[in-house]
Amino acid sequence: MGSLDDKVVAITGASSGIGEATARRLAGAGAAVVLGARRADRLETLVDEIRNAGGRAEAVGVDVTVADDLRRLVQTAVSTFGRLDVLVSSAGIGPISPVGARRTGDWHAMIDVNLRGVLHGIDAALPVFEENGHGHFITIVSTAGIKIVPTMAVYAGTKNAVRTVMEGLRQESTDGTIKTTAISPGYVRTEFADSVTDPQIRAQVERGMEAFALAPDSVARAVEFAIDQPWDVEIGELSIRPTAQG
Ligand code: NDP
Repeated sequence: MGSLDDKVVAITGASSGIGEATARRLAGAGAAVVLGARRADRLETLVDEIRNAGGRAEAVGVDVTVADDLRRLVQTAVSTFGRLDVLVSSAGIGPISPVGARRTGDWHAMIDVNLRGVLHGIDAALPVFEENGHGHFITIVSTAGIKIVPTMAVYAGTKNAVRTVMEGLRQESTDGTIKTTAISPGYVRTEFADSVTDPQIRAQVERGMEAFALAPDSVARAVEFAIDQPWDVEIGELSIRPTAQG
């Protein structure tokens, strides 16, 4: 028996990094997990791993920029496991660069994935949560939105927009139906640098990750903590940095 046996959790960005570690950890704690990302082959491998360990998992090919894909993710949770209790939005990209470089394609991509992608998840899950009488949105934002540094302006903007949406939704949901949690990691050792399109900045990010980044499971533990609370306790915001990060 795990502490999350009674939870059904959908996770975007589950094909790598924080989302993947979260899927593994929550499934290990007994939750049924529904995994979404574009790389379906990776999701299938993870589903097999979880099932072989006695867990419950299902994969759905999801591009978070497509609203219907999030509806399919939520509907798969309902049709396979009977309901949805938690949506963890981890899908995100960080093609960062100075604003003056005017990499407008990268700006749009970050807005589409990091902000619109999360809104699509809210749009898809909210009716199901309201019908169930409860639901929990957990979103991976970033310490980039807390300490603003050069090259991260637009990325941090998307993350802070999401932080604002989480807080606004929290204030609109004081009837006790909806919980929201925004988790802000610092450097975490994942494939995140692969989404940085500027080669010099990508090398910089990779150096930071090699120097002192956290294991993705450190963030997954925070997700588990936020879920594993009595219903009247809402964990609103958490920041998790490597101890050596400035
Ligand atoms: P990874 O690159 O390892 O994982 C990103 C995940 O997002 C992948 O599963 C990827 O799957 C998915 N993804 C990207 N674009 C889309 C899309 N259009 N539709 C669906 N899924 C998508 O990085 P992390 O695990 O580090 O990133 C997870 C979250 O953590 C992000 O929101 C990131 O901003 C945030 N974060 C990361 C930090 C770090 O240092 N690593 C620090 C602070 C925050 P696929 O390509 O298969 O679709």
